[in-house]
Amino acid sequence: MTTLDEPGTAIRTITAEIDGHAVTVPEGTTIYDAAKAVGVDIPVLCHNERYDPVGVCRMCVVDTGGRVFAAACVRPCEDGMTVKTDTPELNRSRSTLTELLVADQPPRAEDPKQNKTGDNLLLELADRFDVARETTELPCGTGRGADSSNPVIDVNHDACILCDRCVRACDDIQGNDVIGRSGKGYSTRIAFDLNDPMGNSSCVTCGECVQACPTGALTNKPINLIPIRPREELDAVDSVCPYCGVGCALTYYVDRERNAISFAEGRPQPGSQSRLCVKGRYGWDYAASPQRLTVPLIRKDSSYPKGPLSADVRGDMDGGAGNDRGRGGAGGGRSEKKGKRRKPGGLVDYDEVMPHFREATWEEALELVARRLTEIHAAGGPGAIAGFGSAKCSNEEAYLFQKLIRAGFGTNNVDHCTRLCHASSVAALFEGIGSGAVSTTYADVANADVAIITGSNATANHPVASSFFKQARRRGTKIIYVDPRASTVAEHADYYCQVKPGTDVAFYNGIMHEVIRLGLIDREFIANRTSNYEELARTVADYPPERAAQITGVDADTIREVARIWGEAKAGVIFWGMGISQHTTGTDNARCLIALCSITGNVGKPGAGLHPLRGQNNVQGASDAGLIPMFYPDYQGVDAEKTRLLFEQAWGRPLDPKRGLTVTEIIKSALAPGGVRGMYMLGENPFLSDPNINKVRKALSALDFLVVQDIFLTETAEFADVILPASSYLEKDGSYTNTDRRVQLGRKVMDPPGQARVDWEIIQDIANRVGLDWAYAAPSEVFDEMVALMPSYKNLRHGNLGLTGKLYPNEDPDLLDGTIVMFDERFNTDDGLAHLVPAQWLPAKELPDGEYPLVLNTGRLLEHWHTGSMTRRSYALDTISPVAEVYMHPKDAADRGLLHGQMARVRSRRGKIELQVRVSHREQLGNCFIPFHFREAAANLLTIDEIDPYGKIPEFKFCAIQVEPLGGRA
Ligand code: SF4
Ligand code: SF4
Repeated sequence: MTTLDEPGTAIRTITAEIDGHAVTVPEGTTIYDAAKAVGVDIPVLCHNERYDPVGVCRMCVVDTGGRVFAAACVRPCEDGMTVKTDTPELNRSRSTLTELLVADQPPRAEDPKQNKTGDNLLLELADRFDVARETTELPCGTGRGADSSNPVIDVNHDACILCDRCVRACDDIQGNDVIGRSGKGYSTRIAFDLNDPMGNSSCVTCGECVQACPTGALTNKPINLIPIRPREELDAVDSVCPYCGVGCALTYYVDRERNAISFAEGRPQPGSQSRLCVKGRYGWDYAASPQRLTVPLIRKDSSYPKGPLSADVRGDMDGGAGNDRGRGGAGGGRSEKKGKRRKPGGLVDYDEVMPHFREATWEEALELVARRLTEIHAAGGPGAIAGFGSAKCSNEEAYLFQKLIRAGFGTNNVDHCTRLCHASSVAALFEGIGSGAVSTTYADVANADVAIITGSNATANHPVASSFFKQARRRGTKIIYVDPRASTVAEHADYYCQVKPGTDVAFYNGIMHEVIRLGLIDREFIANRTSNYEELARTVADYPPERAAQITGVDADTIREVARIWGEAKAGVIFWGMGISQHTTGTDNARCLIALCSITGNVGKPGAGLHPLRGQNNVQGASDAGLIPMFYPDYQGVDAEKTRLLFEQAWGRPLDPKRGLTVTEIIKSALAPGGVRGMYMLGENPFLSDPNINKVRKALSALDFLVVQDIFLTETAEFADVILPASSYLEKDGSYTNTDRRVQLGRKVMDPPGQARVDWEIIQDIANRVGLDWAYAAPSEVFDEMVALMPSYKNLRHGNLGLTGKLYPNEDPDLLDGTIVMFDERFNTDDGLAHLVPAQWLPAKELPDGEYPLVLNTGRLLEHWHTGSMTRRSYALDTISPVAEVYMHPKDAADRGLLHGQMARVRSRRGKIELQVRVSHREQLGNCFIPFHFREAAANLLTIDEIDPYGKIPEFKFCAIQVEPLGGRA
């Protein structure tokens, strides 16, 4: 039989009979899949629908009337085939196979996962076929060994049945290629790299292999000594990972008796498709840290005048230029130089800081917050108040926070960490296509002929998205990687262009020059869908490959080849990260990417488009919800009168007609006369996350009043007048919007500790104390109000987000997952066209010189998150990555007499830090990389606070430094 799926596409179908059920399926469908379609369950062991079938275990054998039984997972159905799946002979075969496998298993008592069915597919089959290890007469094989070298994964080779599920999970799903096989005959076992201990191998501890393993061979270790109980004894809570913008769907398995998470597992969702990285799977125990804030705190009268309280924050350890040691009078702690003991883990020293605060009731703390902010507002006007929200908070919390600052204090001085990650991308996208959101999803890379990944260490920063990039390449998508650092992504690329830092505009102008010269532009798209092409073409005419090569360091032939590959592709997509956005030319960089996609017609169709990989789990949602100084929710400009009147009517208060200050401008304003005097800090830690933190230190010290709402005592909280104990992600309900525009529900897993409260309730209590009249009963009510003011979120409700969330825009969330590809007919600009904005290459603001000859690049590590307040309190993440390091090219290290592992001092014009040297072949000569998570070696003591003029994003990726052995120049 032949049917038509799409016009002109003939699909041959075949009809078979399975256990008496007639089934018609497309040609090539396996017996297993066809049986499943008619509700027939065939037992499997090596097969799992997420992995390509291999048919090695023979558990799924069926009777097709042939000479031998057929493995249903690999054998295709044939027209007229009659299949039996449940006969005494088949079950005898399965039973014997199970007995042979179980005979070789270690005793059940060794491992709780071995004791129960549900976690162990082999033992589940043993129970099904009534096979007991204890009764079998076959000898138990042992001796292939165990491996406990990974902090959170146990390997018991004796329990391995060599089904290769872990190999396929590691290679085909996560694309990490760590697991294979070694040995011969009975000694064959799975091997990590070259048969290394797992903990010493290149394994990234994503745990995909544990999720895949059908026996007790790969199991999670207990985290924080809390034993892992069998799944059926645990409470399953479906939620979303709290770390990065990929927004992986997961299930937390909660031990209610111990009030603790037992383990986490990826679950199906159209984006992440059950995958997780090490942070999502193992990084959740921070919430149970004994260092959680549990009671409201008020600074003691004796601890004024206000100043930083711990040695590191005072600057006693950094010695940087611009230190403000005179302000630290209230601290009283001894410096390291005087023998002060530094607490392990690089966390705030509670013993040193806590004595400067006293416990308070919620009533007293909230009353003080409301009174002081109101007084400052009355004395200094709306401009004296500012709020930093957080992209870790839910959409509802972000919405309420910006509403409080705007409606309660009449100012638009409200911003969050989007300013530090993709503000320039958003500025360019708004200008170019009228929308700051991605034009397609990360999984749409599967439909691309070519993908450019640029300025993104995706394998570390967006690990699950990167697994889709790797998988796409295996299926034929060409990957072009453009980045100054040769991160792991380079190993998965067809072309790696190692540009010099800060030369992206020259590189992409060179590519566009060549695309135009070769006639590979899409003339129809340019004519009908874009404006300003002629000016763009004139600008890039000045960037022939030879000139681009001279500026970027990438040879001209490679530029030509990459341009040809991109220009000839039927569908091309660009993914970019903060290597593009965190520059003083960040907006120009993004303008070039928009132009490159537009002139080749690569927007608005499957496998094509623009995707700034968003950093925090809810940076997209917080921005959508209006947590930015120039926009109300849904990017409706605060300076448009009609819009302002609409929001004034909705919120019942007069609103500020002017744009507010951004994060960096608020910090500057706090240091200026007549500037910001009172701040509400919700979950942000600018002391470590903002550039040039000596300046941040002064700004925080200079404030008249600072309230910090957080889950831990952060470096920023040391400057607070009042500290409000908040809820972690795991302790509340709310919605979060990932990098794909997928709005998902995060669900409460456990109660907040002590007197800590959920954030939206705290914000509401403060709002009511400053004269607003709010009475939200639940986050869903807040969401409904938000959506009524946000056309993009139209039709979404908590009730229709379901388990997998929904993409916006979405015409019918009850039926549809939402829009993957945007802008297929018009862009969101006033005239519906993409506005091409040419850019000239400009050098970075602070170039290397004789005194500071190296370039510093800062960023994240796979295991850590931003200022480390969560990940450094996670057992797994802190154990895998415990120390701050400066990554250096071998020659740069050797030229300075530095050895791998040696302590060094890194200096810039703004400060200096001390940390270990990591000699790394991933760095370019003359360039260094320092992750910014480590308080004890805070990279942002070194960075420069120059900003991009459009997005106002700081230059985190380029400043001049020197590195020298400790004991060298002081
Ligand atoms: S470790 Fe587990 S998943 Fe990997 S081959 Fe052995 S039994 Fe299969
Ligand atoms: S890729 Fe991002 S969202 Fe997914 S598990 Fe890792 S940190 Fe969480």
